[in-house]
Amino acid sequence: MTTETAAAAARATVYGYPRQGRNRELKKAIEGYWKGRVTADALRATAAELRRTNWRELAEAGIGEVPTGDFSYYDHVLDTTVMVGAVPERHRAAVDADPLDGFFAMARGTQDVAPLEMTKWFDTNYHYLVPELGPGTVFTADSTKQVAEFKEARALGLSARPVLVGPVTYLLLAKPAPGVAADFDPLTLLDRLLPVYAEVLADLRAAGAEWVQLDEPALVQDRTPAELNAAERAYRDLGALTDRSKLLVASYFDRLGDALPVLAKAPVEGLALDFTEAAAANLEALAAVGGLPGKRLVAGVVNGRNIWVNNLERSLITLGTLLGLADRVDVAASCSLLHVPIDTALERDIEPQILRWLAFARQKTDEIVTLARGLARGTHTISTQLSANRADLASRAGSPITHDPAVRARTAAVTDADARRSQPYAERAAAQRAALGLPLLPTTTIGSFPQTGELRTARADLRAGRIDGAGYEERIKAEIQEVISFQEKTGIDVLVHGEPERNDMVQYFAEQLTGYLATQHGWVQSYGTRYVRPPILAGDISRPEPMTVRWTTYAQSLSDRPVKGMLTGPVTMLAWSFVRDDQPLGDTARQVALALRDEVDDLEAAGTSVIQVDEPALRETLPLRAADHPAYLTWATESFRLSTSGVRPDTQIHTHMCYAEFGDVVQAIDDLDADVISLEAARSHMQVARELAAHGYPREAGPGVYDIHSPRVPSAEEAAALLRKGLDAIPAERLWVNPDCGLKTRGWPETRSSLENLVTAARTVREEL
Ligand code: GLN
Ligand code: ZN
Repeated sequence: MTTETAAAAARATVYGYPRQGRNRELKKAIEGYWKGRVTADALRATAAELRRTNWRELAEAGIGEVPTGDFSYYDHVLDTTVMVGAVPERHRAAVDADPLDGFFAMARGTQDVAPLEMTKWFDTNYHYLVPELGPGTVFTADSTKQVAEFKEARALGLSARPVLVGPVTYLLLAKPAPGVAADFDPLTLLDRLLPVYAEVLADLRAAGAEWVQLDEPALVQDRTPAELNAAERAYRDLGALTDRSKLLVASYFDRLGDALPVLAKAPVEGLALDFTEAAAANLEALAAVGGLPGKRLVAGVVNGRNIWVNNLERSLITLGTLLGLADRVDVAASCSLLHVPIDTALERDIEPQILRWLAFARQKTDEIVTLARGLARGTHTISTQLSANRADLASRAGSPITHDPAVRARTAAVTDADARRSQPYAERAAAQRAALGLPLLPTTTIGSFPQTGELRTARADLRAGRIDGAGYEERIKAEIQEVISFQEKTGIDVLVHGEPERNDMVQYFAEQLTGYLATQHGWVQSYGTRYVRPPILAGDISRPEPMTVRWTTYAQSLSDRPVKGMLTGPVTMLAWSFVRDDQPLGDTARQVALALRDEVDDLEAAGTSVIQVDEPALRETLPLRAADHPAYLTWATESFRLSTSGVRPDTQIHTHMCYAEFGDVVQAIDDLDADVISLEAARSHMQVARELAAHGYPREAGPGVYDIHSPRVPSAEEAAALLRKGLDAIPAERLWVNPDCGLKTRGWPETRSSLENLVTAARTVREEL
């Protein structure tokens, strides 16, 4: 291979594109179909039109090979489940009766049948449906969707490459089906699965596919030797097939580590690797194995999951290095563009100068095409783009938005002592007991109360100018009054104001902090037809004025019982936003923490004696590789403490996390040094209480006794039984009584009954002490 021939062949490609359409047409069509307002044919037509639009857009921009099969009515892992025939037994009849309705039944469940479980796709905010497998699973190939979509793209005269979830990743993402032993390892099904992939590959070849991409992102996680062996075997076997297209094995989201030599040696024709900063180690590792002689390398140099304009010159340097390492080097985004919004051109409210710092899917496509052209034909052919890019990067780097001297000075002056409470926990606990005078097993809730239609209407009315600020304020106050009076009547000990003024627990704060940007159309798929618009952490963060004090003090003015202040913690503020890529995440977290610290201090000064700082994202933000955990946990816990350590010892700091399995972060939870933590526990029968106890967790805790994920009302006996289980692990002096999470998705009727039962349970169990 010579670098000249490798360069001349360079082409631009992507692995996937946002599915929803510029106006979220897909969401509207699917939800219309569910409601019976859109026919199946109309839904299919909308979907086909969206695919065509995407492919044309990509091809017109200069993408040499468009991806197919990445489109989905719900989720591409669920599509894979259909492709390999792993439909759970309980959904079989529905799928046989009508594949489309059966597909949605697997995704969403029906009156009688539970859906597949949903969980996060690696460390993104996209959720996939978890395959359910067991020793009895029989795979059968169904290549219909893949073949049909490939043919659609070909019919438009485009060169296309089907993209599939690879067999190893598919199995590694699966879990034992209900009724199957929990220690069943889905990877043991590999030999049964490979022939099914072989069939699909044969069908795609017959349809004319020159290349097929198999995505194996699971290989960027820590893998056991047995798992790496499985990967080796899978690609040895698939590579040995004769009736197949050329295979491109793709990885993204992190470095491949030990899996890199395995894939580099595999008898496949190409590898796609992430070369963004997070996976920078791939470059050296690739050189260390001697590159990919005779193979195609697809270089993910444009970040596919963040929204910043690419540094084209830096990417060209990376690409230049890679030229010597493969026969052909193509340019791509690091992962599917599914994880970014469609087009910055839709944004009207962001200043044009700042908009140029951003690149959504459409802009990233242009960056990829530009880089491929620069590589193939020389940088002089892209000099206009390079100088515009230089100007955009300089504008961002030199902007007062990204460099606020006051914020910089403050973060630089932070000391270790700022992130430590003034007294150790035991002394604080005594001071808080005296100050708060709570009963044993105090009752509380997690913050939000039902977000009713009226509240959403009030917000829409305010946005549309149908009511003014004062009118909106009245409606919010009326809601707070209702929430407070209900809690008093029910006998809850530590009250909340109910969060009626919040559209979303991150967005609400982002809108009030300087340095955050909001988009109007920056929708990204979270799961199924649910899309979110993550705010953008664009600049140095400061808090121009208090964000929650008004509502909390108003609520407190209505009651003699303590009302909890309610904030979203720094890690969660980062996790559910697009983050800066021009400074370490820890620096951004520290800025957010200081802004929140001001809010915490102001709440205390206004008379709030209990303040909760939610960190539901602490665990999900864990890096994919264990080697990266300590560094993350250090800044994550420090930023939490920085935001909460400015208060007096008798002010009680709560935190909340919504998950039951936190084994790998239990030490970090301890390191937060919060006085009280509430966690999800109802469905796992208080498992967390036992885990906290096993760890020797010394502080107060409220493992949830009310599962808020369903409208079901737990009886008082049921909640009491859970409490008694909690008491087996946590002594009464340190046990709180609360639901699993906030109540915003619940209706009022079930909320009322459930909380009444929860208070009854607390009273019953107190009497038994
Ligand atoms: N305080 C928030 C609420 O009650 C917490 C939500 C969450 O943990 N996801 O809604
Ligand atoms: Zn929660």
